[in-house]
Amino acid sequence: MPLADLPDHVSPFAHVPGTSEYDGGAHLFRAPATPEVVLRPRTTEEVAAAVRACTSAGLRIQVRSGGHGSAPCPDGALIDLSGLDGVTVAGSTAEIGVGAVWAEVAAALAPHGLVVTSGDTGSVGVGGLVLGGGIGWLVRTHGLTIDSLRGIELVTADGRIRMVDAQDDPELFWALRGGGGNFGVVTRIWIEAAPAPDLVRVELGYEPSATRSLMEAWWQVMAEAPDTVNSTLAVMPDISPQFPAGGLVDLVLDGTVGEAREVVAPLLAVEGLRSERIESCHYSDLLGPTPPEDIPVTFVGGNRVLPDLTSEALDQLAALAAGQAPTMLLLRGLGGAFGRVRAEETAFAHRDARVLAVANALLPADAPEEAIAAAREAQAGVFGHAGIYGNFSLDRGPDVTAAMYPPTTLERLRAVKERVDPDGIFAAAHALY
Ligand SMILES: Cc1cc2nc3c(=O)[nH]c(=O)nc-3n(C[C@H](O)[C@H](O)[C@H](O)COP(=O)(O)OP(=O)(O)OC[C@H]3O[C@@H](n4cnc5c(N)ncnc54)[C@H](O)[C@@H]3O)c2cc1C
Repeated sequence: MPLADLPDHVSPFAHVPGTSEYDGGAHLFRAPATPEVVLRPRTTEEVAAAVRACTSAGLRIQVRSGGHGSAPCPDGALIDLSGLDGVTVAGSTAEIGVGAVWAEVAAALAPHGLVVTSGDTGSVGVGGLVLGGGIGWLVRTHGLTIDSLRGIELVTADGRIRMVDAQDDPELFWALRGGGGNFGVVTRIWIEAAPAPDLVRVELGYEPSATRSLMEAWWQVMAEAPDTVNSTLAVMPDISPQFPAGGLVDLVLDGTVGEAREVVAPLLAVEGLRSERIESCHYSDLLGPTPPEDIPVTFVGGNRVLPDLTSEALDQLAALAAGQAPTMLLLRGLGGAFGRVRAEETAFAHRDARVLAVANALLPADAPEEAIAAAREAQAGVFGHAGIYGNFSLDRGPDVTAAMYPPTTLERLRAVKERVDPDGIFAAAHALY
């Protein structure tokens, strides 16, 4: 799009290919981005001007907050919100610009003795994570990130700046809590923070031979744990000396080291335990660094939210981890506060899930189609048709969207989309089809 076609008040923050401003705004985590123009507004008013300029130019809009959504952006306009990144705290409410990343939010809240549950990685953006749900270290204690949301500022397709909450346009507020970037450009959010817990972190490493019994013991612990206990279990394949093959339990608990030892006793008893670390930590210590982007592998996989880990499911997962394609598994305990929100209260509706299971086969970058298809088939056999958490899904398309939302939720989301974006100018990471 020629810059000359843009209104004068938009061109100062519009950037075309070949400039460092374009490259900075178009950087997406492990995804190609070649939009015609990158718009980098610094205020909500500039976002509104950008949206109006794109609609008059007939450009579809993709939105970038932290750029970790890995949704390719082949054309149209990309609105990069990294300039809208302020975090302020008043009482227990945090006002957050969506261009902030979650490590910044945790750092701003810490001096106030407050936390907001987000994800496990500090560099993930506020915008994308919060619109999809937000499954993080305190999910069983405080629910999804959207469960603490109190208000949202956004610019809709008509260029209007709107404030929505439980009183003002509750249906749009509902849709924005799990419905992704389908409804406009979200610029600011207000979120209710919670008192910072006294956390103890337990990290336990296991030999690969322990995988099946480890998964069973982990599920036994998590199925009975109080809401103050949160945990993941990762099973790594043998791919590099940097990441040794085997199981890794990461568990955090609001309590003392002694209480943590009691909770993990069944895990300490699993044969094949090779490392153990139990120590106090702060919430912000839990938000890890960005994984390297340039790993030369093709990730083939996805996730499912499951109501239970039956013995049969555990057998299947263990077989997947030991299968032909080197496969990384990640299980995260849900339930607790996450499960006490009714399915119809937010657009993320899979509230009966008690575990999130992620499987990724790590195939060579030039893996043949047959190898990719075989990995997909092996995973489909394990996961069946359970629900999908969209934020963790690299796959897109009608089948993925249908697994993200039960039919009644999808119908409601489409009705809101039709009202606020009738011409479909927003190209969200997961369309509503
Ligand atoms: C290394 C890594 C770790 C992760 N860990 C977790 C985790 O622990 N828990 C978890 O829940 N998720 C996690 N995720 C997934 C993450 O929540 C999603 O990828 C999310 O979309 C990233 O948000 P972002 O703002 O960085 O991404 P972006 O790429 O900027 O956005 C992703 C999509 O969200 C929409 N969007 C973003 N911002 C806006 C906005 N302001 N207005 C309207 N639409 C918008 C757009 O459709 C966009 O394509 C992780 C992802 C990565 C890469």
